[in-house]
Amino acid sequence: MSDCLFCNIVGKKIPAKIVYEDEQVVAFDDIHPQAPVHTLVIPKKHMVAIQDCVESDQALLGHLLLACSKVVKVKGLSESGSRIVVNTGRDGGQTVFHVHLHVMGGRQMGWPPG
Ligand code: AMP
Ligand code: ZN
Repeated sequence: MSDCLFCNIVGKKIPAKIVYEDEQVVAFDDIHPQAPVHTLVIPKKHMVAIQDCVESDQALLGHLLLACSKVVKVKGLSESGSRIVVNTGRDGGQTVFHVHLHVMGGRQMGWPPG
């Protein structure tokens, strides 16, 4: 989708600091990091939000989580821990409507989140 910010990052039309990439996903550092490590993992395919996913997306959704685990390792968070977050819809705080998983770490996280 040409008017989607994250599709434009996938297409390399908008620059990003890419941490990991394969045929199905891209991971890049968040432009406004909320923790010392804050990386977004997105599918290359445009998907609006988790609740719109269907059975045929099952493998890709699993692949996204495995990509998060690769980011955790690349960023050196395996020992210290991390938080993987998916903000979904208005009340969930989603602002970019292309599915993305936030991988955050490098500081103690609070609970519950605000
Ligand atoms: P969410 O609020 O869960 O939809 O998260 C969207 C995230 O995208 C926010 O953390 C933003 O800081 C981040 N973001 C917005 N524009 C860019 C960009 N051009 N490059 C990297 N991250 C971005
Ligand atoms: Zn998109």
